[in-house]
Amino acid sequence: MRILKGIAASAGIGTGKSFLYVHEKLVIPRIEIEGGLLEDEKQRFHTARTNIDQELNDTLIEVTTDEHRKILETHLMMLQDPEFISLVEHHIDTHQITSEWAVEKVLTEYVELLDASEDPILKERKADIYDIGWRIIRSMMGKSRPGLSGIDEEVVLVADTLLPSEALALDPKKIKAIALDRGGRTSHVAILARALQIPTVVGLGRITEKVDMGDEIIVDGNLGEVSIRPSTASAQKMRERFERWIAHEKELQQLTDLPAQTKDGHTVSLNANIETIEELETVITHGAQGIGLFRSEFLFLKPGGASEEEQFEAYKAVIEKMKDSGPVTIRTIDVGGDKVIPGMEGLGEENPILGWRAVRFCLSRKDIFKTQLRAILRASVYGKAKIMFPMISGPEELDNVLLVLSQVKDECRRDGIEFDESIEVGTMIEVPSAAIVADLLAVKTDFFSIGTNDLIQYTIAVDRGNDKIAYLYQPFHVGVLRLIKMIIEKGHEHSIPVAMCGEMAGDPLTTVLLLGLGLDEFSMSPQSLLEVKNIIRSVTLEEAKEMVDKVMSMTSLVNINTYIRKWMHDRFGAIISA
Ligand code: PEP
Ligand code: MG
Repeated sequence: MRILKGIAASAGIGTGKSFLYVHEKLVIPRIEIEGGLLEDEKQRFHTARTNIDQELNDTLIEVTTDEHRKILETHLMMLQDPEFISLVEHHIDTHQITSEWAVEKVLTEYVELLDASEDPILKERKADIYDIGWRIIRSMMGKSRPGLSGIDEEVVLVADTLLPSEALALDPKKIKAIALDRGGRTSHVAILARALQIPTVVGLGRITEKVDMGDEIIVDGNLGEVSIRPSTASAQKMRERFERWIAHEKELQQLTDLPAQTKDGHTVSLNANIETIEELETVITHGAQGIGLFRSEFLFLKPGGASEEEQFEAYKAVIEKMKDSGPVTIRTIDVGGDKVIPGMEGLGEENPILGWRAVRFCLSRKDIFKTQLRAILRASVYGKAKIMFPMISGPEELDNVLLVLSQVKDECRRDGIEFDESIEVGTMIEVPSAAIVADLLAVKTDFFSIGTNDLIQYTIAVDRGNDKIAYLYQPFHVGVLRLIKMIIEKGHEHSIPVAMCGEMAGDPLTTVLLLGLGLDEFSMSPQSLLEVKNIIRSVTLEEAKEMVDKVMSMTSLVNINTYIRKWMHDRFGAIISA
């Protein structure tokens, strides 16, 4: 038996046999072929194509989501593309090289061509060309790995990392838990795992080297612990822990329809973060009072992005479904950093986290930005919607995005398109410069939403997805707490509500502190809503303010951490797991 410690990324405990999935880097041998064997090379290429065609068609029968189906259909089309086939054959003939080498050459040519193109649709095909091209190469080299969608029994997925598109294709009925070598709690794959409610531990270092296919595994997503080939005694202990957790979850269910109100009558709003429409059922059953963050970039994960019509339908569906619960805050597309969207990745940026991201991307791609704003405005008449801009760094940038919004509103009026004329517009505060000039932004916007995932990353200069420096990623860093306090104060001085939609808002350990700091709205993954509500309903605002006074007078992170953990543990016992 072996126990590995990682980062708890999605609550719950999952057990089962491991399914090992590693993205290996292949080196293609540069071998030249004698003239007489060229036909055999071509035949190897066609056999690989036929096999993959069969695999894709088999998977297609079983897929459950439209996004996944469209990806597979695009791959099938490319597999049959006559131009692609004849180019590979041409390279085999003229350069007398292996079929793997020829496919690689064609891939490189395609990608160069697409990079040089001005057409956004063409550019967006790059990721798919890579995906299918490398699948053919792997097949010819005898290095095929079974696709994740092909998993047909219950397993624990053990992988080095997962791309967003791979995570999106996971079937939560089959994947009992996930354990990853890489990633942090706020990396996108962790956020998606929470959305899919799959118990997950990330940042485990080298678990993929310590596990064999089919090993018995227990993943504890509450404690961030993974047991490999557990003994009977420890499996039993884990089972007991699991049962206690389930019983506690059942108790929390009774709070679903009760308000998030402290014992002395102070009420806050508890909202949910979503990535996909499929999560709405959980959002509603967990009593969310609205959507505080709809990460709209997930609509763009499929090949070809999302047209105005597709976006409109998606926003409308969410807004209508939430009509009886509360408003839907749609964040405009936030690509870049760890959010890699096929065809929208920065072109070889050295520092993507500080690069062409979010509104920076939107302001230079106004075609995509305006289409999205128009789709949101059109959907706004079907219930209550809000618009929120990510990664604003200062007043000029906010002015620029507001100008585009007012242009799109004018265009809608001109075209006779109805929309909610009083739609609220919010600013995410997730860049330290925005926090420092929060007073200047507050006068231009209807609400703030603090994005702590990025705010912590940029304030402490610590990559949120890098497990090697995860120990530096500290929500209770004095610098971070001072910024949060300042943002809330500046918002309130200008009479606008302040929300938080970073993962910190859903961490039960931080609830009392944030309450005392005056946060108006907490937005989190639906799984955490009832736990946070339970804490809010068990304390008074007075007590929360006392905690804030004490914490803000401390100068050391260790002391703050110890003080808050002890306070929460004395009050709530073992439920605080973060
Ligand atoms: C954040 O940065 O806190 C946030 C909510 O946005 P994302 O995690 O999508 O970057
Ligand atoms: Mg962010």
